[in-house]
Amino acid sequence: AASGSGSIMWFRKGLRIHDNPALEYASKGSDFVYPVFVIDPHYMEPDPKAFSPGSKLAGLNRIRFLLESLVDLDTSLKKLGSRLLISKGEPGQVLIQCLKEWGVKKLCFEHDTDPYYQALDIKVKPIPADRRVESSMFLQEYTSAAGIEVFSPVSHTLFNPADIIQRNGGKPPLTYQSFLKLAGQPSWLSSPLLTSISSLPPVGDVGSCEISEVPTIKDLGYGDIEQEWTPFRGGESEALKRLKESVSDKNWVANFEKPKGNPSLFVKPATTVLSPYLKFGCLSSRYFYQCLQDVYKNVQKHTSPPVSLAGQLLWRDFFYTVAFGTPNFDRMKGNKLCKQIPWNDDDELLAAWREARTGYPWIDAIMVQLRTWGWMHHLARHSVACFLTRGDLFLHWERGRDVFERLLIDSDWAINNGNWLWLSCSSFFYQYNRIYSPISFGKKYDPNGNYIRHFLPVLKDMPKEYIYEPWTAPPGIQRKAKCIIGRDYPKPVVYHDSASKECKRKLAEAYALNQKLNGQLSQEDLDNLR
Ligand code: FAD
Repeated sequence: AASGSGSIMWFRKGLRIHDNPALEYASKGSDFVYPVFVIDPHYMEPDPKAFSPGSKLAGLNRIRFLLESLVDLDTSLKKLGSRLLISKGEPGQVLIQCLKEWGVKKLCFEHDTDPYYQALDIKVKPIPADRRVESSMFLQEYTSAAGIEVFSPVSHTLFNPADIIQRNGGKPPLTYQSFLKLAGQPSWLSSPLLTSISSLPPVGDVGSCEISEVPTIKDLGYGDIEQEWTPFRGGESEALKRLKESVSDKNWVANFEKPKGNPSLFVKPATTVLSPYLKFGCLSSRYFYQCLQDVYKNVQKHTSPPVSLAGQLLWRDFFYTVAFGTPNFDRMKGNKLCKQIPWNDDDELLAAWREARTGYPWIDAIMVQLRTWGWMHHLARHSVACFLTRGDLFLHWERGRDVFERLLIDSDWAINNGNWLWLSCSSFFYQYNRIYSPISFGKKYDPNGNYIRHFLPVLKDMPKEYIYEPWTAPPGIQRKAKCIIGRDYPKPVVYHDSASKECKRKLAEAYALNQKLNGQLSQEDLDNLR
């Protein structure tokens, strides 16, 4: 084993070379750097019971995206005289073994606010002697006892959520505007970020630690999958290429205005599709933000937050901050921000939504795009989230959240939960009378139904007059389109007009009761509401 000045760079997210302060610090003054990624089998192993290919926690599209990102990282590290070491197992335990075996003095990794990583971090960071109580924290004890320096900088978000919360007296800001006021300009904006590295210290002897190359999905136990795959490939190289393409169109960046934009465009989507790269940290949000500021400086006029492209990155930071500062952010019960609503439980309706069998082509096409691509436009996500919860089916937002969490390639704990709270009118947004029509909303953007024809080929010959409401097509037309409703494509699971009225009525009742009881509803109150 190497002795003296070795360090471990533990990659988790932040799968990049550019703007990577942990990697920078790991290589500073070190003779050896061990870049490690630990594959947690829990996240990767095939789940034969899942309704679509993948593990229990992640759809295969995201697993593949991650593996591609690791291959790309390995290639970049090799160009710098290093390489990526892949290990497998419970990350905390694997790390201890590596630390022991390699005798390093520094452990560096990007700070992460997600509960999964927070739980892991507790295991690795040195704690004051008086707080060292739980025996499960052995990695933490190990780094403390062995005098290993742990360096864990914030570089996944524009701001440190903990700082913002502290500036706000210990509570997260609950509106975007108050968040902006507290946040101000990011401190790193004035000095250029480190975006290129010319070399890295070599990898030391790995000793008896089990190290492998990046596995393929076959190595992980997945057979041949016959389905359409996501067109988006993982990795930093691809992220930087996409970013460059986006920001090179200065007019487009300057005029970007959300929520304008067409959710039915899929050959060339209306937004950047940088979210999966930001999720895994193949792209630094800070670098993205800096590139946007460069564009803004060089144009006469540009849009501003909340609607601008920089404003979208600030939404990301907003949700990270609220999520980090709110206990039980990912559920209704025990979550102070969340209105208590007596959602229905209905496994069949849930399955119809998840499996794209609602009978509403606009909704079903979006759910097919989710399953096959793992990415949809923001307003498409709005449509299906509203439909599942307060718009039509009145099912619990946590059920929809779970489906998104598993299948999205950009699946992000803070952003996903935050947006589900929003769309279900459980928090942040409360205008429950404004419901997306599963018929007219999509039609406005795509009257010919090209999006539906692509993702639901069973409807590809349906005349445009009927494509959003195929159950209204006369039998002769259905026969000619080779799509009999009720046989080849389902009838609607609910009637939007009556279902949405009923949803509004229930929301009004639940809101009134929430107000009366100031959010403190008991299970009994909820049952009485049903
Ligand atoms: P662009 O419009 O190009 O925006 C650039 C970046 O800004 C995005 O990549 C993203 O990081 C950030 N951003 C954009 N919109 C939002 C937003 N509303 N909230 C927070 N950050 C935003 N986004 C995720 O990254 N992961 C999720 O798991 C996720 N779940 C969602 C669930 C629901 C129900 C809804 C309605 C939205 C969800 N979003 C999620 C937010 C948003 O839809 C996506 O970030 C966006 O569509 C990604 O496409 P893009 O990169 O082209 O976005």
